[in-house]
Order: sequence, then C-alpha cells, then structure tokens
Amino acid sequence: MLLVKNKNMKNRILILGGGFGGLEVASSLRANLDNSFKITLIDKKDFFIFGFTKFDLMFGRKAPEDIKYHYSELNKKGIDYVQDTIEKIDTDNNNIKTTNGTYGYDYLVIGLGVEMHPQVTPGFKEGGYSFYSFKEAQRLRPVIEKFNSGTILISILKGPYQCPPAPYEAALQLHDYFEKKGTRSDIIIKVLAPAAIPIPPSKEVSTSILELLEKFDIEFLPKHTVTELDINKKQALIDGSNSMDYDLFIGVPVHRPPKVILDSVLGKNEWINVDSNNLRTEFENIYAIGDVTKIPAGSFVVPKAGSFAEDAGKTVVVDLLNRIKGENNKVEFQGIGACYLEMGAEKVAKVEANFLGANQPDLKFIGLSEKYKADKIEFEISRVKKWFN
Ligand SMILES: Cc1cc2nc3c(=O)[nH]c(=O)nc-3n(C[C@H](O)[C@H](O)[C@H](O)COP(=O)(O)OP(=O)(O)OC[C@H]3O[C@@H](n4cnc5c(N)ncnc54)[C@H](O)[C@@H]3O)c2cc1C
Repeated sequence: MLLVKNKNMKNRILILGGGFGGLEVASSLRANLDNSFKITLIDKKDFFIFGFTKFDLMFGRKAPEDIKYHYSELNKKGIDYVQDTIEKIDTDNNNIKTTNGTYGYDYLVIGLGVEMHPQVTPGFKEGGYSFYSFKEAQRLRPVIEKFNSGTILISILKGPYQCPPAPYEAALQLHDYFEKKGTRSDIIIKVLAPAAIPIPPSKEVSTSILELLEKFDIEFLPKHTVTELDINKKQALIDGSNSMDYDLFIGVPVHRPPKVILDSVLGKNEWINVDSNNLRTEFENIYAIGDVTKIPAGSFVVPKAGSFAEDAGKTVVVDLLNRIKGENNKVEFQGIGACYLEMGAEKVAKVEANFLGANQPDLKFIGLSEKYKADKIEFEISRVKKWFN
C-alpha cells in the first residue's frame, strides 16, 4: 500500500478513547499514513472489551482476563498509546490536559463513549445490580449463581442507552440459564421499559423480540420507568406512584456523556453535535464519533452501539485522508450497524440497521440460528486482528 506523506505539517492526530470508534480510527490511519504522522490514543483504561462479552462475565462463561485486549499492543503498530485520564479539552489552544500532562493536536477525534449514572435512581446503587460495565457484570455473577426463586426485574431507567436490544438479550439469557439449572419455573422475569415497544425505530424488530419474550414466558412492561428502589421492602417505585415487588433488580443505568465533555463547550447540548455526513464538530479540526454523539436519523437518533461507532470511525478516516491529501471529496456517514442477541443453546439473532440511508431508519431482525453464533465470533476475531495485530 502506498502510504500518504505529510504535505502540510499538520501531523499530530490525537484520539481520545480506545473504544470501537477510537480503535478503528487509530488502526486505519496508521495503516494509511507514513511515519511523519504521529498518532496518539489516550485512554484511562489499559484494555478494551467488546460490549457483548459482559454477558460472558455475568454468566461466568469467561474470566475477566479472557475478554481483555490490551492497548499496549498498539505501541507495536506505531500508535502511541498513553494510559491517562483526560481532564480538559481546550478547543481555543488545540490541546487536551490529562492528569499527567498536556497533548497538542492538529486533528482531534473524540470517542469517549458514555458514563453510567446509577446514583440518579435512588436506591439503585445500594440495592440494585447491572451488567452495563465490566465491574458491574462481575458483581452480578455470584448473585445470579445463588438465585433460585423469586422475581427478577430488568429495568431500562432512561434512554438513550447502549445497544438497545441488550436488556432483552439479558432476559433471554437469564431464561436459558435458569432453564438449564432446572429452576426456571420458580423464577419470574420481567422487562420494564420507558418506551412503548422494545426498539422504537422498528415495529417489525420489536414484534420479533416480543414474540421471543412471550415464547419464553418473559413479561414486557412498556411505559414503565422505575424512579426509585425501596431496598428494605424490595419494591421498585414505578413513575413515582405504583410499587412492584422484586427479589433481584437489574437496571440499565442512566447514561450521560463523560464529565470532561460536559465541562467543555462541545458538551453544551449534552451529547456532542456533529455534521452527520463527515462527523466534524463545530470546530473544523475536531471530530466526534460513537456513543458520545447525538446524530438525528429521521424521527430517531443513531443508536449507541459499537458497530455504529466503528462505522463513524471509518467515515472520519476517509474524511481525514481526503483533507491530508488536499482532496475535496465529500464523505457520507451511513449509520450502519448491528447488535447481536444471543440466547443460549448456541443460538444468536441479529438486529441489522441502516439509520441514515433513507428518510427513516431501516432495521431488520435476522433469525435466531446457530449460523449467527459463527457470525458473532467472526465479528470479534476480525476486529481484534485489525485493531491489535
Ligand atoms: C451488554 C452489552 C452488549 C452490547 N452488545 C453490542 C453488540 O452486540 N453490538 C454493538 O455494536 N454494540 C454492543 N454494545 C454497545 C457497545 O459496547 C458500545 O456502544 C461501544 O463500546 C461504544 O463505542 P465507543 O467507541 O463510542 O465508546 P467506548 O467503547 O465506550 O469507549 C470509550 C473509551 O473512552 C475511555 N474514556 C472515557 N472517558 C475518559 C477520560 N476522561 N479519560 C480517558 N479515557 C476515557 C473509556 O475508558 C473507553 O475505553 C453492547 C453494550 C453492552 C453494555
């Protein structure tokens, strides 16, 4: 491959966050730019995990070390990985401040994802569980192991949240787990959502999910937002009025942009606004990708999921290479992605989506089959190969 040479001395590319988006940008740019370009990726963690492997932790199928991919591998590829916490983005002076230093940039790509805020729902932090973070998924594991009878509430506390099918996947995997254990008939599983249907941009996908829930005796309670937990009585307060008993409460915490974004001008509307074609922010040399952004798509927004963050990363790479080469080609972010829905017995379904290809998002629910298990494994292997090898 012919590597792009530096013509205009703007050679410092700084990537904030090593998630799906950040890793895609770092590895693709490194493969396309010659060594006069300095590509730096900063993340407070020293490893990446795929979102869906949190289910492997929750059900004890894999150990925490087995799902980690270490960023130190990036240095071997010519990407400068720095483990540090970003504290300030100074758009006036084109630099960012971390706990331990200051980094200047010519181009900045922000892929800092979301921050979870369980404390917004009183009682949740003290008496509830979640599978939405690496730590929380591990904390839930022994609780599920010991759970033999009673009511489990899986509650989406507020949108937007990552990977919209994931709470339904959790319910289906719990069903399968307890079925195999022989205790399913002693357990009630309910999913509570603020929305009227599981996946609001698609009635068709929602119907497929509702059919699966019904088939496996999982109750769906639409337009139900848990506003508080009474952890002594083990009751969830619904929309500030009715109460519902539970034995195990598993919540999808309120998501917000990371504090460093909310503290900066880029977070003045909460999630970062970008040009939905090229993903540039209001600052010409700053891009934002993935979960940290809000991108309108018809009457909805592009979902918070890794595959969309990766697609956004790909778009930024094309736009940046055009600019570096001095070409004025237009790019168009497609908003294409997929979330897997695994439910034991090696069966996996897939929700595929194109959010920006037409006036309204186009989503498809694709079968529940063994075939998609292999597809899911390949999804992970191919990304690891590209990003870390
Ligand atoms: C249970 C579950 C299942 C999922 N399944 C799927 C699926 O099937 N398909 C799919 O596409 N998506 C799935 N997702 C969603 C997916 O994991 C996220 O949407 C995706 O990781 C978002 O990518 P991102 O690049 O925007 O940000 P992230 O991957 O969240 O990365 C952001 C990075 O920024 C770093 N960071 C944040 N703040 C700072 C700071 N101040 N300083 C330094 N570093 C910082 C973080 O450490 C993190 O590494 C799932 C999520 C969950 C919870």
